[in-house]
Amino acid sequence: MLVLSSPSGAGKTTISRALLKADTNLVLSVSATTRSPRPGESDGMDYYFVSVAQFQRMKSDGEFLENARVLDNFYGTPRVHVEKQLSAGHDVLFDIDWQGTQQLRENARDDLVSVFILPPSLAELEHRLRGRAQDTDSVVRKRMARASDEMSHWPEYDYVVVNTDIDNSISQVQTILVAERLKRARQIGLGEFVKGMRGA
Ligand code: 5GP
Repeated sequence: MLVLSSPSGAGKTTISRALLKADTNLVLSVSATTRSPRPGESDGMDYYFVSVAQFQRMKSDGEFLENARVLDNFYGTPRVHVEKQLSAGHDVLFDIDWQGTQQLRENARDDLVSVFILPPSLAELEHRLRGRAQDTDSVVRKRMARASDEMSHWPEYDYVVVNTDIDNSISQVQTILVAERLKRARQIGLGEFVKGMRGA
């Protein structure tokens, strides 16, 4: 499980898309949210857009692997898809906040790799949030106010990438993924492989 967290506008979505495009063994965990779709977002691709009542029902039925309130909306990771993908041998990418990352860490520390994406500066973050022109002025202000709180959680992550240059950040996260996959404990069947070579 590869988690990417960052304040909104730091480039996490762009990095996620690039990773998914380049790596067919990596699949995205699509979250459920009670927020309204932004222009260009579609149901089932970017999020499952649900009502507050639907969200509460999913939560009380234990359908979420983790869930959190972010600004005025609820977000949660439906567990079924993630468990199916993991047991099929795929790696799963999560675009979730620090609260969700803490919950996943509590439940599956050894299977989790977490990366925090920082913007190069607050001014650049605001510039990017305004530039994407998808959110109203008051939402941008709320996101900026929340950015400082979100960024305070960077020490809880395994890796930190400062997104000054998007192509460089993408390749840094790809490098993390490659290195983590090579960890001895993650290479299932390695014992048998070496045993076979040694003829033991
Ligand atoms: P946005 O509304 O900009 O798509 O997302 C707002 C924040 O919610 C982002 O930091 C995003 O990573 C986080 N988020 C999205 N889906 C989930 C989820 O399923 N769980 C949690 N904990 N956070 C989420």
